[in-house]
Amino acid sequence: MTETIDLAVVNGDVVLPHGTMRADLCISEGRIAGVVAPGQAPRAKRVIDAKGLKVLPGLIHVHCHFREPGHTYKEDFETGTRAAAAGGITTCFDMTNNDPHPTTLDAFERKRELASSKALVDFALYGGGLYPATVAALAAAGAIGIKIFNTRHVKEVYPYISELGVVDHGILHELFEAVADTGLVCSVHHDDSEWCKRMTFRDYIDRGRTDSAAYRECYAKGYMYGHGMVAGLAASLYYARLTGVRLHVLHLGVMPPAANEMVAHAKRSLGQDVTAELEVASLLMSAAQAEKVGPFAYLWAYAPEAGWAALADGTADMLVGEHAPHTVAEVEPGWQDNFSIPLGITGAQEFIPLLLTEVNRGRLTLQTLVRMCSEQPAKRFGLYPRKGSLEIGADADLTIVDMQKSATLTRSDMHSRTGHTSWEGVGVEGMPVHTIVRGEPVMLDRAIVGKPGQGRFVPGLAAAAR
Ligand SMILES: [Zn+2]
Repeated sequence: MTETIDLAVVNGDVVLPHGTMRADLCISEGRIAGVVAPGQAPRAKRVIDAKGLKVLPGLIHVHCHFREPGHTYKEDFETGTRAAAAGGITTCFDMTNNDPHPTTLDAFERKRELASSKALVDFALYGGGLYPATVAALAAAGAIGIKIFNTRHVKEVYPYISELGVVDHGILHELFEAVADTGLVCSVHHDDSEWCKRMTFRDYIDRGRTDSAAYRECYAKGYMYGHGMVAGLAASLYYARLTGVRLHVLHLGVMPPAANEMVAHAKRSLGQDVTAELEVASLLMSAAQAEKVGPFAYLWAYAPEAGWAALADGTADMLVGEHAPHTVAEVEPGWQDNFSIPLGITGAQEFIPLLLTEVNRGRLTLQTLVRMCSEQPAKRFGLYPRKGSLEIGADADLTIVDMQKSATLTRSDMHSRTGHTSWEGVGVEGMPVHTIVRGEPVMLDRAIVGKPGQGRFVPGLAAAAR
């Protein structure tokens, strides 16, 4: 360790996946330089006193839609990563339904440049899975994984999903072959769009039952985001088995509980290389909250016990607070016609406080939170131990939380450009207070101090040596 270090984080309880210890963290040149007994840190240029606080390895949010390029009137990398930093997130993975979609090398590289000048926290980018022939170039350019939308919008009113929709299983298979060759993870939003469309039109849209209460009934019945997704998952698991692709299942918890059985079977009985991420809204958004915010949340916890079980038995590997924002003007008409609006939910700023609240309630441990939101995402996507750990030499990404600090989630506190939150009025206990990315504070005492461009691009494991 150098004589004078850049930053010391002292007096905190350091939380690791398998235990908590009182320790001081020493940081130099953006990396962890030492983990020492309390009081043993050398002189530092800056000291953060974490007395009474929990110090976690930087949390990773693997499911963000920051809408850039193309829809920056909803969100961009600056507002999105500012919201994430306020939510204690140090690295974000961004999805692909943009304009243009990052499905080609050119579009991917342009997106990376745009994001690089704006991001406040580190970011990784999915490559868009649409053309098998472009997958290798996206991987070499640093895509963190390849995202496939095996779906289309029920009324095609959200073209950026339909354009990316891969509903032909032959193309899905060829994409899996191409992704398998790169070694990247292939993350899929599963569906059987024709089934979903037929049932939804038959029982709802064609009968003029389109308001937000009808949507919720349709969702609970498994027509929207329901049984069709499970059928899509079944096909995809089989093609993944044939091609050997490393499959990552998106939206576990949005799907009916049968999806958990399929993922568990593929993992345990068949030994497939499969992981899954679980939406916090599928555990925590009450029916009353869903009714209150109506079209401002496309999912809620209608089978939460299955989700908690998937978390407990290892079927789910990661927790996410999907951040898929749209503007108030786009969403408002959903009160009357919930099937004709872009569907979304907010979560970048809210999901860690929501999970910390569950820790205080005894439903979750901080160790599990760290495993599900830091260690396992980093391991799965090839970033470990540089991200997702506090080993010597790891990036000094830290999420420092005050488990006693409470708040009510409300739109005026949100940094997202959309000006609303799906969690409006929900009380939380446990808040991130400092967010540190590679040794540099991005949030201090709940105030955003980071600057656009401070966040760095985090390439995936197949990136060409650069
Ligand atoms: Zn999404």
